[in-house]
Amino acid sequence: IADYIDGKWTNLEIKPIQNLSLHPSNLALHYGQSVFEGMKASVTKEGVPCLFRPEMHAKRINKSAARMCMPAFPEDLFVEAVTKLVGIEKNWIPPYDGSALYIRPFMFATDEFLGVRPSEKYKFIIMTLPVGPYYTKPVSLKAETEFVRAAIGGVGEAKAAGNYAASLYPAKLAQEQGFDQIMWLDAKEFKYIQEVGTMNIFFVIDGVIVTPQTDGAILKGITRDSFITIFKDAGYKVEERLIGIDEVFAAHADGKLQEVFGAGTAAVVSKVERIHHDGKEIKLDVSDYKIANLAYDTLTGLRNGTVEDKFGWVIPV
Ligand code: PMP
Repeated sequence: IADYIDGKWTNLEIKPIQNLSLHPSNLALHYGQSVFEGMKASVTKEGVPCLFRPEMHAKRINKSAARMCMPAFPEDLFVEAVTKLVGIEKNWIPPYDGSALYIRPFMFATDEFLGVRPSEKYKFIIMTLPVGPYYTKPVSLKAETEFVRAAIGGVGEAKAAGNYAASLYPAKLAQEQGFDQIMWLDAKEFKYIQEVGTMNIFFVIDGVIVTPQTDGAILKGITRDSFITIFKDAGYKVEERLIGIDEVFAAHADGKLQEVFGAGTAAVVSKVERIHHDGKEIKLDVSDYKIANLAYDTLTGLRNGTVEDKFGWVIPV
């Protein structure tokens, strides 16, 4: 936990989790200056806890913070704090079974003021939570044609609390209609695919791996970035470009849509078995998802030390 006061970070401490005391006019509660990260520490086969690309999370929270008019938290301090916290987390003796320690760094405004302006004081907190193995079942997606998550020029690229609040209502409706998650489309034409719930998305069309380009309206996932590198390294053609929902349905009709899967820290890979758009639906056979399996096996292998870390992504604690 740390406080930002008078233009600098101070009161750095590690302490047991406890309640916070906030004034009712806390700026974050009213105007949403709040950003966060989600990362996981896993354990290798030899029992060594490891972080995965922690500097990327440090950079991303600062990018989110800058968009929300919040100060940067020094990147080296971020990595040091996460490393220390994981190291002293005595309750966490995870077996080598896919269990992990979820790590939630977050920053929020602490000024007590009711007018709309950036706060001058902030808190930065990192908390951890042991999580069991994440068994993913194939998911169904509803391409959303009424609500939008993010527009170009908005805050979609920031991991800002408000983005998640905006998604709650459409996600609830989609779940009531029998879908697991929403596939977000662009805010202008409801045509181009952005991302899925808390994941980025990949398509395999006629042997080519396609993922939506980041144009300021989607979160630049660290899993997404890692997969692009892994796929290119394995010799696949990867395209980051605009991809329309119509293109996906047309590829399916032509028998060229081979795989659709989500990518994110929590599930690593979520295979997609059904996509609904505007009254039409496609079904996919997930039993032969070679690329999704390669992505999952490589990333989990890197994390548990059974795949050589040639990219230097895995940092022992
Ligand atoms: N998009 C959104 C909206 C998310 O919340 C997440 C999870 N952080 C992702 C994509 C995937 O990002 P990452 O791979 O960094 O977990």
